[in-house]
Amino acid sequence: MIHFTCDMCGKDLSSKESQRFIVKITAYAGHDCDHIGEADLDEDHMETVAELIRRGETQDHTEDPGRFKGFRYDLCCSCHRRFLEDPLNRDPLRLLNFSKN
Ligand SMILES: [Zn+2]
Repeated sequence: MIHFTCDMCGKDLSSKESQRFIVKITAYAGHDCDHIGEADLDEDHMETVAELIRRGETQDHTEDPGRFKGFRYDLCCSCHRRFLEDPLNRDPLRLLNFSKN
């Protein structure tokens, strides 16, 4: 049997009653903006720019796997809710309020 615990608070998620949420985060380099100049943003070139961006994104995945990183977390119900409210944990004041509870 696979044992699951919440990756944020450590709560045991193996029992049938506990709801488990999976969060997947993918980080990879965006398209290099140096390749897109003022002229490329002209309406006539929008299709080309879109193609450049499409190619840029697939290149980052295939040619440079070091810049591509995926994360997978198991979260309990309350941590999942907290994650959705502030995925990047950018609000330290909110965290202070949580710890007072
Ligand atoms: Zn949790």
